[in-house]
Amino acid sequence: MSSRRTRQRTAVLRVLTGCQDFVSAQELHALLTEADVPIGLTTVYRALRDLEATGGVDVVRDEAGERLYRPRPADGHRHYLICRCCGRSRPVDSEIVERWADRVGADTGFAAVEHTVELTGICGDCQPATDEGEPPPCHWEPARDRARSCAS
Ligand SMILES: [Zn+2]
Ligand SMILES: [Zn+2]
Repeated sequence: MSSRRTRQRTAVLRVLTGCQDFVSAQELHALLTEADVPIGLTTVYRALRDLEATGGVDVVRDEAGERLYRPRPADGHRHYLICRCCGRSRPVDSEIVERWADRVGADTGFAAVEHTVELTGICGDCQPATDEGEPPPCHWEPARDRARSCAS
């Protein structure tokens, strides 16, 4: 891997680390452009793929199937519960999944078993106030607004 590629990956990870939540490649690209980092969208995708392959990021898919990224904590990968309305995410306890996946590997003799678990729901803020009430309109915030939750 060239040092240029490493630099770009580092820049992507730096911006990603400043985000409070999952972001898409397009959102990251917009943030990098705003931060005056000259980088193409294709390079952002490639950097994210590298980071995914090396375990540097966790990945989920939004309702439209677009991949969203978040830096993986140092103590290993996490699973998240994501609100289908606003896109907010929170890590969930997944000890049981990890143990089950380990056991499947041990039982089958498979090595390097990987797993993907996606949990989505409707968060408290997005639920109707009463049983009869209409649920509030969903508002997955546009990239520009969501980007403001990212530290620059
Ligand atoms: Zn929500
Ligand atoms: Zn897991």
